[in-house]
Amino acid sequence: MPKFAPEYILAALPEHQVSPLPATRPVRVTDALSIGGREVVVAAGPCSIEGYDMLLASAHHVDAAGASLLRGGAFKPRTSPYAFQGLGEEGLEIMAQVRECSGIPIVTEALDTRQVEHIAQIADMVQVGARNMQNFPLLAELGRCGRPVLLKRGASARISELLLAAEYIMANGNDRVVLCERGIRTFETITRNTLDISAIPVLKRETHLPVLVDPSHSGGRADLVLPLALAAIAAGADGLIVEVHPNPPTALSDADQQLTFDEFDDLMVQIAHIATACNRTIKRPEPASRGSIPAMECAPQFDRRRTVPGKAAVA
Ligand code: PEP
Ligand code: MN
Repeated sequence: MPKFAPEYILAALPEHQVSPLPATRPVRVTDALSIGGREVVVAAGPCSIEGYDMLLASAHHVDAAGASLLRGGAFKPRTSPYAFQGLGEEGLEIMAQVRECSGIPIVTEALDTRQVEHIAQIADMVQVGARNMQNFPLLAELGRCGRPVLLKRGASARISELLLAAEYIMANGNDRVVLCERGIRTFETITRNTLDISAIPVLKRETHLPVLVDPSHSGGRADLVLPLALAAIAAGADGLIVEVHPNPPTALSDADQQLTFDEFDDLMVQIAHIATACNRTIKRPEPASRGSIPAMECAPQFDRRRTVPGKAAVA
């Protein structure tokens, strides 16, 4: 039996299926996209949704480069209450438009139980951020939301605590949970967090849940994203979630760690080599599921060059 058996019961699985080495059970995100199979899945996009044009440009770019999911925060969990908090409801509306226009599925974060219903209507997958990993009412609400959940590990959370947080979602009726290792807090200060590489094989061995790795928040530096991404796939991750921005130095959050479009293109090429060496492939977006509206006809009702107060226009 797994070491965690007494406290970790894998609510979503009948007891007899819990074996010492459970196979990863893929989580369906859309009809065309599952996470946890032989194909490595990449989610990419800006840290924050800053406006329509930047999100649409990001969607088209990461889609063309081979990402299967667009990431982007409308509600941002910022350490300082004075930092950019995200566009909120307007960000969700932008996300819905970009999703319709580009066809790429979207993952975004819910910070609060009151946001879950609306976010679940728009997003294909709902993210729980590191700071909310033990927000038990939020986890329970996500258990009832009908969407797959990307559950990020808290910066100081033990693996067993991450798994028990997953239990909250599953025990409330939602077995579509994907775990995310995003770095933990250690004594090291050169990096923003320390990517816990060993968590990847441990989670893969001890649970049936797919595991994504976030190399952006792990290192907190754009120059570390590629090596951490390569290491994650070599260690058995089922995919990555990567921050990519049209112009990282101007980003309203996490400017230091976001990749440029060119850097992201390079990452997609490099990870394919590691995936091949690990007898896996990179999931390619399904053309059939793409672009319900031709790009030229996308007509946003938004100020296309939305400005956040005190900042330059984000083109
Ligand atoms: C994010 O992915 O936008 C984020 C805030 O990450 P984390 O919760 O891992 O810090
Ligand atoms: Mn971020």
